[in-house]
Amino acid sequence: MPLLVDAEQTWVQPAIDYFTYSAAIMHNKGDNPIVFGTIQTYLKDAKERLLLVTKAADKMGVPMGFKLVRGAYMSSESKLAESLGYASPIHKTIKDAHNCFNGCSSFLLEKIANGPGSVVLATHNIESGKLAAAKAYELGIGKVNHKMEFAQLYGMSDALSFGLSSAGFQVSKYMPFGPVEMVMPYLLRRAEENRGILAASGFDRQLIRKELGRRLKAAVF
Ligand SMILES: Cc1cc2nc3c(=O)[nH]c(=O)nc-3n(C[C@H](O)[C@H](O)[C@H](O)COP(=O)(O)OP(=O)(O)OC[C@H]3O[C@@H](n4cnc5c(N)ncnc54)[C@H](O)[C@@H]3O)c2cc1C
Repeated sequence: MPLLVDAEQTWVQPAIDYFTYSAAIMHNKGDNPIVFGTIQTYLKDAKERLLLVTKAADKMGVPMGFKLVRGAYMSSESKLAESLGYASPIHKTIKDAHNCFNGCSSFLLEKIANGPGSVVLATHNIESGKLAAAKAYELGIGKVNHKMEFAQLYGMSDALSFGLSSAGFQVSKYMPFGPVEMVMPYLLRRAEENRGILAASGFDRQLIRKELGRRLKAAVF
């Protein structure tokens, strides 16, 4: 069972990366990594950092695991950058963040198709899901194996999760748990930061309504 270490705001991330990559050097052996780092592709330097880590890991012969996300701390990153007067580390437009996610995803899939390593694509974005699934297919990466999986938050983008799972891909649903006073602020932060997710859950509701209608019709006629 792999251990995926989350990514947080840029001012604490160097320390998290230090501990994660040290643990990866100690524990990742053979083909299947146990300790995974997280790359946030809303950051302008995401691709550059991903290249640096993979290059260093290759040199040391350490198989790496990465969880790829867009990133959940847009407002706090922008607020701090503005208050201290430095340029925001976040891409200028959402299109750049999408391109960065899809570019990093493609890079990682090519990497694991030709060598050791694993990737978890943690996204609710249907376009990114489709692109990655097509790329995995093209590269011949086995669907149900330990090299690649998709992940969504529990209760979010179920249509994407079910679609990928029906196509044979491994899919996880992340379920936060813990004391209410810790879980509620976590969920509120996600709701506030990820308006895209809320739009996607609207799409899910639309699909559920359509399915309910279909079943009602089937039961009546
Ligand atoms: C399994 C799982 C694990 C996760 N773990 C982490 C984690 O460790 N660390 C973490 O930070 N987040 C984590 N997340 C949250 C993740 O970052 C959010 O789900 C993500 O931000 C929502 O993006 P999306 O890929 O679902 O796509 P979309 O909903 O298509 O994209 C929305 C995202 O795009 C980015 N964005 C929006 N507007 C702009 C803009 N103007 N400029 C640049 N970028 C923009 C933001 O990141 C925003 O959240 C995790 C999510 C999942 C599903």
